[in-house]
Amino acid sequence: SPCPPAVLAEAGETGGREERCASRSVSDAIVGDIPAGLLPEILSEALVWSALHGLVVGDRNVPRSGNIPGVGMVHAPFALLPVSFPKSLWRQACELAPIFNELVDRVSLDSKFLQESLFRTREVDTFTGRLLDIHAKMLELNKTEDIRLGLHRSDYMLDSATKRLYQIELNTISASFPGLGCLVSELHRNLLNQFGKQLGLDSRGVPGNTSVSRFAEALAKAWNEYNDSSSIVLVVIKPEEHNMYDQYWLSTIIRKTLAEVDSEGELLPDGTFRIGGRTVAVVYFRSGYSPNDYPSESEWRARFLMEQSSAIKCPSISYHLVGTKKIQQELAKPNVLERFLDNKDDIEKLRKCFAGLWSLEDSEILEKAMESPESFVLKPQREGGGNNVYGEDVRETLAKLQQEGGRGLAAYILMQRIFPASALTHLVRDGTCRRDSAISELGIYGAYLRSKDKVLMNDQCGYLMRTKVSSSNEGGVAAGFAVLDSIYLT
Ligand code: ADP
Ligand code: MG
Ligand code: MG
Repeated sequence: SPCPPAVLAEAGETGGREERCASRSVSDAIVGDIPAGLLPEILSEALVWSALHGLVVGDRNVPRSGNIPGVGMVHAPFALLPVSFPKSLWRQACELAPIFNELVDRVSLDSKFLQESLFRTREVDTFTGRLLDIHAKMLELNKTEDIRLGLHRSDYMLDSATKRLYQIELNTISASFPGLGCLVSELHRNLLNQFGKQLGLDSRGVPGNTSVSRFAEALAKAWNEYNDSSSIVLVVIKPEEHNMYDQYWLSTIIRKTLAEVDSEGELLPDGTFRIGGRTVAVVYFRSGYSPNDYPSESEWRARFLMEQSSAIKCPSISYHLVGTKKIQQELAKPNVLERFLDNKDDIEKLRKCFAGLWSLEDSEILEKAMESPESFVLKPQREGGGNNVYGEDVRETLAKLQQEGGRGLAAYILMQRIFPASALTHLVRDGTCRRDSAISELGIYGAYLRSKDKVLMNDQCGYLMRTKVSSSNEGGVAAGFAVLDSIYLT
C-alpha cells in the first residue's frame, strides 16, 4: 500500500521508509486511523478515565510529586488505541512465561555457572562485580533460599522481516508497570465499548490483563509461606519515585529506601529481618537494579543485610544475576539450556525466541559488527533503559574499546537488532495527542513461587505493551516517546 508522505513528514522520519510502508497496511487499517471528528471525543474520554481510575504517575513539573502520594499527578503516557498483534504470537509469548520462570529458578541454583559466566564481566564492571561479591559471600555463608519468589517480565519484539517473535530481555528485578499496564488494557476496552462501532473494533479483541492481581497474589502467597501472621511485605523504593502509583496498585503499606533499610533495619541472630519493630517476610525490590540506586556504601550494606536474612527476596541476588544480559547471552549458546531443563519441547520453544547473541570475545562477530553496526545492538550489564548502543555508535564504541586493549569489551554483549514493523499510533502524553509512526515491545509477566520441592505458583500473569516512536537512531540516546499500550488480537 502507498505510504502517505504527510504522515512520514509529520513523524520526521528519514530512514527505514520501505519497511514502514510495508507494515502500514497490516496494522493501520485497524487502529491507525481515527476519524478526525471522533478524535477529540475519544481523547477527552481517555484522559478523564485515566484520572478517575488511577492511571497516573507523578508529574515531574510539580515539586514533591515523587515523594508525596496524591500530590502532582498526571495521567501516565498511553497510546489512545491498542496496537494490533497476531493471536498466534501472543499465545506463543504467553506459553513461554512458565518455562522462563522455571529456567530462572534452575539457573539461580547453579552458582558456579553464574560466577564463571560473569567472571570476565566483573573485572571491568564494578556494579556487576559488587552484585557478584554479595552472591559469593552468600556461598561462603552457605546461605540457601528455601522459598523463592520471582516476579518477572519477559520482553519481545516481533521482527517484521521474519514475522517471528524474539526475546529482547528477561527482567528478574523490578519489572515495572504490572499496576498501570492492567489499567491501560481496561482503558482501551472501555474506549472500544464506547467507540468500537465507529472504529470498527470490538472490545473483546483486547485480552484480559491480570498482572496486578496475579503479582499481588504471588506476594501474598509468599508472605503466607513465610508463616508469621505479624510479618510484613516491604517494598524497597527509590528516594524519589514518579512511578509510585504503579507500585501502590500492588502494595500500599511499608516502603523504605535502601538507605532507610541501612539505618532502620536489623538482622537478628536467627536470620530474621526486622524494620520499625516488624518482621519482614517478603522484600520486593523496586529499586536496587542500577548503580544510581547505590550512591554510597549505605545502600550496599542494606542490600547485603537483606540478602543474609531469612526474608523472601524478590529477587534474591541469584535471581537478579540470572537476569543480566550476559547470562541471557550464555544461555543462548549451544547446549546450555540442556544443562538446566529436561523437557525437549520446552527447550525448543525457548530457543525459537532467542535472537542472535554474542560475547565480544568472538573476533569474527566483532568484525561483522564493525562492518555493519546497524544490524546489532551493543548492551552493557544495565537495566532501566537508555544504556544500549546503536548504529554508528556501535562501531565507535567497539573501536575505542579495542584501542584501550580490549578488556572493556567484556562489559558488553552483542545482540542481533530486531526491526519491528511500525504502525501509525496516537501517543498521548501530558494531555497532548501526537500521531506518529511507532514500534512496540510486548512484555509478558510471569510469577514463580517455590517452597523447597513444592512449586506453589508458576504462571503467566498478564502483559504490557510499550510503544515508542520509531526513529532511525532509536533507544536511549534521545529520551524518546514511549507510552503504555495494550494489544488488539488479530
Ligand atoms: P533494559 O534492561 O535497559 O530495558 P533492554 O535490553 O530491554 O534493556 O533494551 C532497552 C530497549 O532497547 C528495549 O526496550 C528496546 O526498545 C531496545 N532494544 C534492545 N535490544 C534490542 C534489539 N535486539 N533489537 C532492537 N531493539 C532493541
Ligand atoms: Mg531490563
Ligand atoms: Mg528492557
